[in-house]
Amino acid sequence: MSDFNMFCYQCSQTARGSACTNAGVCGKNATVARLQDNLIFSMKGISAYNYHCKELGVSDESVDEFLTKGLYTTLTNVNFDIGDLVQLALDSGEANFKVMKMLKEAHIENFGEPVPAEVKVGAQEGPGILVTGHDLKALEELLKQCEGTDVKVYTHSEMLPAHGYPELAKYESLAGQLGGSWIDQRKVFADYNVAILGTTNCVLPPKDAYADRLFTMDIVKIPGAQVIEDYDFKPLIDKAIELGGLEAEELSTISTGFGLSTILSLAPKIKELVLEGKIKRFFLVAGCDSPNPRMSYYREFVENVPEDCIVLTLACNKFRFNNLELGDIEGIPRLLDLGQCNDAIVAIELAVALCELFEMELNDLPLTIVLSWMEQKAAAILWTLLYLGKTDMFIGPVLPAWANDDILNVLVENFNLTPISTPKEDIKKVMG
Ligand code: SF4
Ligand code: SF4
Repeated sequence: MSDFNMFCYQCSQTARGSACTNAGVCGKNATVARLQDNLIFSMKGISAYNYHCKELGVSDESVDEFLTKGLYTTLTNVNFDIGDLVQLALDSGEANFKVMKMLKEAHIENFGEPVPAEVKVGAQEGPGILVTGHDLKALEELLKQCEGTDVKVYTHSEMLPAHGYPELAKYESLAGQLGGSWIDQRKVFADYNVAILGTTNCVLPPKDAYADRLFTMDIVKIPGAQVIEDYDFKPLIDKAIELGGLEAEELSTISTGFGLSTILSLAPKIKELVLEGKIKRFFLVAGCDSPNPRMSYYREFVENVPEDCIVLTLACNKFRFNNLELGDIEGIPRLLDLGQCNDAIVAIELAVALCELFEMELNDLPLTIVLSWMEQKAAAILWTLLYLGKTDMFIGPVLPAWANDDILNVLVENFNLTPISTPKEDIKKVMG
């Protein structure tokens, strides 16, 4: 938890001309300040998804209206009502639900419904471009422009799920994956002599070793990196060719691309296995990766999930455990990668489908959610799950620093949101 009760310096009344850190000169108390901060963080996450929707030509007026209203609420001397600010946080979850659904539909409309894919991991011979971030439209435009060249395009981090989309996988130049989540980028980008494209958030200022071959685009700006304008990737492709080829290395594979239709096609078999007691529970182990040492919890958790349980995953914490061989339960893979962080909507739609399949309420399903959070999209997703009324979730690797005891009490009392402890203890708590 933060050393300050609160931190606000947004108006001229701020204490000592520096910051209100104990209570607001305006009369705002610490819980109000923190709930306003939380609302801003959640709206930042929604805005990221909303931005990608608009790139794909779709929008929802009610989401834009919510963002305007939510921001206005956080101005000086507008809203001091704790109950209302909690409700606004839940409303942000609803807006995020809408925006994730809209983005997923736009992805499917543009790139097809994902299908399971075995992705080659490692360098292949020839010049290469490594694409990181979340922007599938940017990847598609790049793949089009690489046609007719011998440049291979590799995904990094949250771009991995691109391999599951038929309209992206059809390009021969989409070669495979290099590296894991965003946290390994300084090493991976230095190790592979390729041109690099950062498309969205989770790009770090570069090391000298690769600064001259890092490109960004659109909203992403990194001092020193060259900027791609108007989806014209010629400078990036030329750089890849100029750098020469990579040497082939031994390849491994990882799977991705378990879309809703694929999983629902397995629904009769899943129902049979659940009723026979051969599948006891589903665990959604999902969220952001971060350098926090406590992130090792998530691999250990998945390693210890009982053999009669299925692990669903999405977003970049999957790289903590997606090289584990978990096998299958009578043909149903025990590790199913649903995609990027916005594909939390797939997990939600899947949960709704399971409710119908087993004629149960959401919180009665044999489904446990174990979240890791790092940045503000994860905050928005958390509020979406709370808006849907999901209880009994685990959260780590640390508790959000914006939540003080008052806010945590609300989250625990109303939703039984539980900080992670040890994998074995938490699994025992769930399985009994
Ligand atoms: S809005 Fe209130 S809490 Fe924030 S700086 Fe101004 S007086 Fe302080
Ligand atoms: S899941 Fe979160 S931490 Fe990971 S790349 Fe996406 S936004 Fe960044």
